[in-house]
Amino acid sequence: LTTFSHQSIDESSARVTVVGEFTEHTDFSEVLELSSLRLVFDLSGVSRINSCGVREWIRLMDALRGRTIELHKCSVPFVAQLNMIVNFVGEAKVCSFFAPYLCVECDKERLRLVERERALELPEFMACPECGAAMEFDDLKEVYLTFVTRR
Ligand SMILES: [Zn+2]
Repeated sequence: LTTFSHQSIDESSARVTVVGEFTEHTDFSEVLELSSLRLVFDLSGVSRINSCGVREWIRLMDALRGRTIELHKCSVPFVAQLNMIVNFVGEAKVCSFFAPYLCVECDKERLRLVERERALELPEFMACPECGAAMEFDDLKEVYLTFVTRR
């Protein structure tokens, strides 16, 4: 299930929060009905994307072409698609995303929000905010950051 919520930021901008999965059941028409020239997406709640979901999302990005589209707080599953599919976001701008770190002491993955401009400064290790142990980037960093270095 996917839910959309939106609120206006100003006369020409709206914030769109998407929570859930992108699948063949995802209907983006609610987003298409928004008339704002600038759409600011919050994608932190995107939990899973299958191949049909990829197709629907690319269709949405195509339909929104010409407007200003900002993608904020891209979730780890969203970044995975961003890395695999060159045209995944079209002309939209990725502004920030989550980076996965693993603390073996806590046995937990911890997500860190990163601004797109600071992506290449991400450290391989950082202190766990809970226990203070060193936690490690939970993927191959150069692979996870493919979408940053690709162009
Ligand atoms: Zn820890």
